[in-house]
Amino acid sequence: MRRIDRSRLQAALAREDERFVKDHPASRLLFERAKATLLGGVPMNWMERSAGPFPVFVRDGQGAHFTDVDGRRYLDLCLGDTGAMTGHAPAAAVEAAIAQLRRGVTFMLPTEDAIRVGEELKRRFGLPYWQVALTATDANRFSIRLARQITRRPKILVFHWCYHGSVDESFVTLKDGVTGPRRGNIGPPVDPALTTRVVEFNDLPALEAALAHEDVACVLAEPAMTNIGIVLPQPGFHDALRELTRRTGTLLIIDETHTICAGPGGYTAAYGLRPDMLTIGKPIASGIPAAVYGVTAEVGEKIRARANEMDVDSGGIGGTLAGNALSLAAMRATLESVLTPQAYERTIPLAKRFTEGVDRVIRERELPWHVTRLGCRAEYWFCPDPPKNGSEAAAAVDPDLDRYMHLAALNRGILMTPFHNMALIAPDTAESDIDRHTAVFADSVAALLD
Ligand code: PMP
Repeated sequence: MRRIDRSRLQAALAREDERFVKDHPASRLLFERAKATLLGGVPMNWMERSAGPFPVFVRDGQGAHFTDVDGRRYLDLCLGDTGAMTGHAPAAAVEAAIAQLRRGVTFMLPTEDAIRVGEELKRRFGLPYWQVALTATDANRFSIRLARQITRRPKILVFHWCYHGSVDESFVTLKDGVTGPRRGNIGPPVDPALTTRVVEFNDLPALEAALAHEDVACVLAEPAMTNIGIVLPQPGFHDALRELTRRTGTLLIIDETHTICAGPGGYTAAYGLRPDMLTIGKPIASGIPAAVYGVTAEVGEKIRARANEMDVDSGGIGGTLAGNALSLAAMRATLESVLTPQAYERTIPLAKRFTEGVDRVIRERELPWHVTRLGCRAEYWFCPDPPKNGSEAAAAVDPDLDRYMHLAALNRGILMTPFHNMALIAPDTAESDIDRHTAVFADSVAALLD
């Protein structure tokens, strides 16, 4: 297999940086101006970590494309890291949102849309009762609190290198088999080893041992890991996870925020999972802040049995804007008209085409890389075989190579998801877009090898 020559990589990165600066004068000016009032020159800390020397400032987006302030048009394979999986500004959600904006945004009272949303979520995911939050992070935090309250157990369990939003208990990793704070964990309230057990994904003996303590309220898991590349569950993993959680009285929370890429009912419906609780945010209202969590009848009854109406406003589950009329109007339109089965019939074959194109280049060039797909999400990773767990995936992270592949794509009009090499397909993405990515991917690789 071919190795990437590091000095060629550095030279290629320098060329791409230069090209980026030359092509983006308007973004550069805005970045300089932004630095005067926005910490780091960006409204949100992640935006600082762009592939080029400064971020691209967006002018507008439509469907699978957006245009920047320099007038350059991009194919968007990042899609707001799933928040815009619907494509930008999908007509049905935009119309519903505009109509609701005119009728009022937030009342602290329910609207009828909430019922349609509950009915549709039940149909898709199989769980009977639902609650609304503003972000997937909140949906996870609230589910964890409820799981603790119901089970009266102190800990949660997550998989090594998971990501579930800015949930304190989940910023934890394994180092030499010992649980500790994840690198970069900002101001943790307590040592997460106190709140959390961590095991490797796909490691059933470790899972069994960790749950045997019977101090774990819930396992919080993506059904396939998607935040350290895509790590798929091995055959039998989910059956065993369900059996072990049931046997030990542990609740199982499945986070479908990214794995909604697997189909209209996420991985849960596609593979017949039976979680006690399910969370999802990001694209569920076409990017308008909204998230939901669903529970089984049994969990619903336990929550209701412990509910205390008098203190409901200070119980740690809340959000004044949660369940607002705008989110629900957008969520209803998204579920009814945007993230439809027909949309997946388009996007999943396109993701296959993406994977086949990238795989062909990897094989022709004898690169020690591979590409994995889950529904309409695909990701290439810098190791020859698909990792089985977070440690194997993390060991293959190559920051310079990663930045080069992102920047080379960006300079040729393609945005990949930052932090990893993920591509997501929107209903408006075209076959020609996918083929253009394959060509850009081949050229980017060629510049490192030829
Ligand atoms: N769950 C998963 C699986 C995620 O990937 C993320 C964000 N990447 C979240 C939850 C949190 O989403 P948000 O930042 O919108 O709260």
